[in-house]
Amino acid sequence: MRRCELIRVLGGIVVGLRPHRLLVVAIAVFALLPIEVSDAGWLPDLFKSSSKHPKAPKRAKSAKPARLARHRAPSKQRATRLAALGPVALPPSASKPAAAKCDPSALRIVLDVGHTAESEGAISARNVAEFAFNLRLARLIEEKLKADGFAETRLLLTEGKARPSLFKRVAAANDLHADLLLSIHHDSVPNKMLEDWEFEGKKRHFSDRFSGYSVFVSRNNPDFKTSLLFAELVAREMKAEGLQYAEQYSQPIMGPDQHPLLNKDTGVYSYDKLIVLRRTAMPAVLLEAGSIINRDEELKMDSPERRNAISSGVASAVKEFCEPRWALLGPL
Ligand SMILES: [Zn+2]
Repeated sequence: MRRCELIRVLGGIVVGLRPHRLLVVAIAVFALLPIEVSDAGWLPDLFKSSSKHPKAPKRAKSAKPARLARHRAPSKQRATRLAALGPVALPPSASKPAAAKCDPSALRIVLDVGHTAESEGAISARNVAEFAFNLRLARLIEEKLKADGFAETRLLLTEGKARPSLFKRVAAANDLHADLLLSIHHDSVPNKMLEDWEFEGKKRHFSDRFSGYSVFVSRNNPDFKTSLLFAELVAREMKAEGLQYAEQYSQPIMGPDQHPLLNKDTGVYSYDKLIVLRRTAMPAVLLEAGSIINRDEELKMDSPERRNAISSGVASAVKEFCEPRWALLGPL
């Protein structure tokens, strides 16, 4: 279906729906928009009428997009009938989706600080642990979200060794009955790509080969569709901040770290086996904010400007997740 036809069809649907259904339609439109920019074939799956995955336990005040992502696309027959109605104007109520509005003060977002003080993740080109970068960025995101009214935002700090900590953080997020989990990380490269250099008189490792952010979801998450929706929002905000995504994850050179690129426009990848993304009972997304093994990018990731840009982008993505932008409906 071409985009203009899609908009006409959905415009037709909008006419006959009550305001709380309008939100469903709006995000269905949003989720469909990447059709023309993706070649990974994930969108057909996005709109399968049933999921093979079990449903995640939902809190009473769960984010609306979780519900709407399971919305069925109109049947061909109905779509044809609705298309005949032609373009329509949105009713005044559509610009103010109060009936379906998600309540920022009730949306529980868990910001998972990647790695632990004991198992610090990657080591930067200048010998700083990834955990320190993750913690600093996650704290700023928490601050911005709380300032925006997302009072239930929780910073998740986990202790212990690497692998057990993965299960601990998943259990903690599930116990918190979070509506959404965002895991914050900073990127490196496989060991075989590391090169030597000297920094402050000591031998260190670096690789300037790759840079950029990347956003991961697991198709095994019990609410993959909503995870993908949020991942797209985060990735689009990173792009809007003028950042480029890391393209190497789709390349064979990454070996076991190669992952399917779900959207070549925004840089959303799937990482199906990642414990923190597939074992969590809520929609979950992992953000690699940027490379700290790349010497130039490490300096940028260490700057207040970059941290502000990324944390503002994430906060905007959460706001959009909670209250979709009606402008995305386009010229109905
Ligand atoms: Zn990491």
